[in-house]
Amino acid sequence: MVSFTVLASGSKGNSSVVSCVSATGGATRILVDAGLSCRELFRRMRQVGEDPSTLDAILITHEHQDHINGLAVTARKLGIPVYFTEATHRAWVRQVSPRKRITYAEWAEQYRQQKQAAQDAAAHSAEVLADNPEAEAAADTIRCNFTPGPQDERDPDELAPEDCEPVESAPVKFGPVEMKAVSEPCPPVPDPARLPSVEYFRAGESFSIGDIAVSPFTIPHDAADPVGFVFTAEGTRLAVATDLGYMPPNVQAQLRRCDLIMLESNHDLEMLRDGPYPWSVKQRVLSRVGHLSNDATATFLEQTYDGTATYLILAHLSESNNLPELARIAAERALCSKPSLLANRLYLASQQEPLAPVCF
Ligand SMILES: [Zn+2]
Ligand SMILES: [Zn+2]
Repeated sequence: MVSFTVLASGSKGNSSVVSCVSATGGATRILVDAGLSCRELFRRMRQVGEDPSTLDAILITHEHQDHINGLAVTARKLGIPVYFTEATHRAWVRQVSPRKRITYAEWAEQYRQQKQAAQDAAAHSAEVLADNPEAEAAADTIRCNFTPGPQDERDPDELAPEDCEPVESAPVKFGPVEMKAVSEPCPPVPDPARLPSVEYFRAGESFSIGDIAVSPFTIPHDAADPVGFVFTAEGTRLAVATDLGYMPPNVQAQLRRCDLIMLESNHDLEMLRDGPYPWSVKQRVLSRVGHLSNDATATFLEQTYDGTATYLILAHLSESNNLPELARIAAERALCSKPSLLANRLYLASQQEPLAPVCF
């Protein structure tokens, strides 16, 4: 049996589960994007009868926050691999690493200066200690003074360097010489980009996870290397295509002969134009690397869609610039334009609640 479950969809978090349970009892379960907190993902999975501990892998479409919010904690808790394109992985690592972006030349200069300062400090300390035997004994007692920052709900693994606040050490007097306490090397700070294992894939190159074949394809969106997926298992084809500014020919081709399509229907054009977003954000959403409007999705359904999907799921609806009724009406009007499309069942994915699993 093959099933597809939308746990959440929208700008506050996207996540779905693709499952294949074979007749022999073998099972493969893939989490597509981890846009909710780990706790909320697990809660929603249990709500629809899925056991989070049975997940085999996490697949990431792109690095935007609403697709990766709970990624690191979820992957570490389950100890499962995460599949990215290499560019998306790099972008995600940069995003979660608490470092400011610098050029290589700046980094090399900083490194040289730090090394020089460390050498100078070591030479100075050696001179002081040579002159003051008491200081040598006192130096042994100085410890690294780092304490964790305010407690929060995050996984302890998530604590980043800014969560450690250095405690000022009082100057220590050594006879006639005053010197600042020199801390021992601090314990290594947990790496926020640490994952149990990372697997790379490329758009256009299919691969398999257990019994599920995965075909990633490029989508036009303002991320490092965004993709949609077609999943094939036991002869059933499921497509996921959200976060795309328009419907290019390669995406149209991927959405043929599918049994289920989850397709973006992000905004109503009038609501977006009259809505609260700043002009620059409106331009971004409307652009060819933004999001599909209800009208663009309807145009695809009316003009290009081959009508083979038993289930159509409208997804990634904007909470500010869309209404479920508007998305539904636009899609239904398009489907009604051709009698062959009337058998398609139309669902709307929600931000607040998971959809009941669709089973084949
Ligand atoms: Zn996005
Ligand atoms: Zn998104």
